[in-house]
Amino acid sequence: MSDLIKLLPDNIANQIAAGEVIQRPASVVKELLENSIDAGATRIEVNIKDSGKTLIQVVDNGKGMSSADALLCFERHATSKVRTAEDLFSLATKGFRGEALASIAAIAHVQMNTRLEDGELGRTIEIEGSVIKSNEDAAVPHGTSFEIKNLFFNVPARRNFLKSDKVEFGRISDEFMRVVLAHPDIEFSLHHNGNELYNLPATTLRKRIVDLLGKKSNDRLVPIEESTEIVSLKGFVLKPEFARKTRGEQFLFVNDRFFKSSYFNHAISKAFEGLIAEKGFPGYFLYMDVDPSKIDVNVHPTKTEIKFEEEKFIYSILLSSVRLALGKYNIAPTLDFEQETSFEIPHAMRSQPAVEPQIQVNTEYNPFVTPSRSSGGGTGKSKDNFSQAIKQEGFGTQHAKHEDWENFYEIKEEKTHEVTPVFEEEEMLPNYGSFLVKDSYILAPGKSGFLVFHARRAIERIVYNEVINSFIISPIESQHLLFPIEKELSKQEGINWTENTSVLKQLGFTGSVNDEILTVHAVPSVLEEETLSKSIDRILETLAHKDIEKGEVAHELVRSIARSAAMKRLNLSNKEQIQSLIDRLFQCEDHAYSPSNKKIMETLDLAFIDKKFE
Ligand code: ADP
Ligand code: MG
Repeated sequence: MSDLIKLLPDNIANQIAAGEVIQRPASVVKELLENSIDAGATRIEVNIKDSGKTLIQVVDNGKGMSSADALLCFERHATSKVRTAEDLFSLATKGFRGEALASIAAIAHVQMNTRLEDGELGRTIEIEGSVIKSNEDAAVPHGTSFEIKNLFFNVPARRNFLKSDKVEFGRISDEFMRVVLAHPDIEFSLHHNGNELYNLPATTLRKRIVDLLGKKSNDRLVPIEESTEIVSLKGFVLKPEFARKTRGEQFLFVNDRFFKSSYFNHAISKAFEGLIAEKGFPGYFLYMDVDPSKIDVNVHPTKTEIKFEEEKFIYSILLSSVRLALGKYNIAPTLDFEQETSFEIPHAMRSQPAVEPQIQVNTEYNPFVTPSRSSGGGTGKSKDNFSQAIKQEGFGTQHAKHEDWENFYEIKEEKTHEVTPVFEEEEMLPNYGSFLVKDSYILAPGKSGFLVFHARRAIERIVYNEVINSFIISPIESQHLLFPIEKELSKQEGINWTENTSVLKQLGFTGSVNDEILTVHAVPSVLEEETLSKSIDRILETLAHKDIEKGEVAHELVRSIARSAAMKRLNLSNKEQIQSLIDRLFQCEDHAYSPSNKKIMETLDLAFIDKKFE
């Protein structure tokens, strides 16, 4: 029998490859725009006729091509962007496959003009179905322009497969949006059938979004900015009331490349939980910068799906920074949530017309404090003055009638820790000093009784808040161990540790897993030497916890660190140290309860003491 296998001619191979890269006119627009950006253009014009079926023209002022490159660029796997396999791991360009132009040229009529900035003459090339029709010197402007006509002229099945003009143009416009949102510093225009749809000057990101969505959108944007070793995040979310019923304004970018991720979308939606209707879609424009070697853009031919090495860590950063931003602008359910909706309007004001609430920036908002846990009167916590804090806490204003103390025992027995401590206009008397009782409780004298603090829980709250707030921004201070700690692990425990390496590192833990042995080299400095081993056990336990939401591992770990830190010997040997602890506690948003929801403060008022002496 004769040999049957033959290599496909280039034009057929290109046509087949084209099917993957170029599915519709919008794919052409995307590829050409990306090439212009990679060429360093500062202005790019797009001109479309009949939703791209008749004409797609992209004109840029980028660096242009030499005569040789102008011809070579239509060859398959012809690219100036990747030279070695290693380059694939540090891509800073959008293109790298060298497939787009070869594919487009295989299935359309293409005319390209290009000139280098310092070249006297440029080049003009015509190519139809991979066949070069002309290739000449030409006096053309500096930069590159492509005209793509008769798309799919030789692939009728594809052409018939196209949707209505409206749908196809919608897709072009989507691609255009994704590109222009990733590059506000580049000037863009888009024309369709002679009508100018967009003319976008180079500007800031905020202004670019407003130019696209309309002036009104400016007030709807809530800025996000967070920077960690692994990811820098910036951008905006739309205020919850502008959430859509359909997935509309959801844009994620990594290293200026648009991508889709249901996993990260989940993190953002979670941050909006409780603020928008269950079926609503929050709007966002979020931009991440990640070391290119930590992502893989190679997983999908049209590259809208991207693999992240550190996706869990990024999930938790997304969740926490969106919550933080919503909280800062008082959009998250706040401490006053219940008050605003119910009884706390003073009687005299009830007849007055309601005033539209203004956005207030609450710079101390902690995204990890569960809203329902926070009791009323929680805004405007004292910075450093304890007695002022007590006043602000509203002791005496909520249940503060002295008679309430008649019920003290009952309240105690019911253990309703929802009851606010009740000191009638109580003030700390700082000069009298506070006492540490049995290394456990701090007794602070007030005008008409005592406040009792659970010292360890107070420390837990303080450490928790400090760690959670600083962890988002930079790694927690870590202390290198002279004698590394070793732990035997189960296989699963080893996997848990390895999977969470970056979160752990951000929290101050460095360790390596080898042969089911974990060696910990560094730990957060807040932990004490003697309790380290136990702390690490706790961390492992936390990591093994099945029902912890992936993205909230960080939050659970911080809780566990705080608990461990509170286990250490209390270093409260003098008045100043005790006072400083109390002051720091009152700087915390939710100082009445520990992160594990246990009561930190109790009051012993005069009536209670009187009773003891009856
Ligand atoms: P890729 O972008 O993956 O490298 P393409 O087929 O899209 O592959 O482009 C092939 C090559 O042609 C690019 O690597 C680049 O060198 C050159 N090129 C394409 N478009 C332009 C342009 N607008 N300006 C300058 N050079 C371009
Ligand atoms: Mg390209």
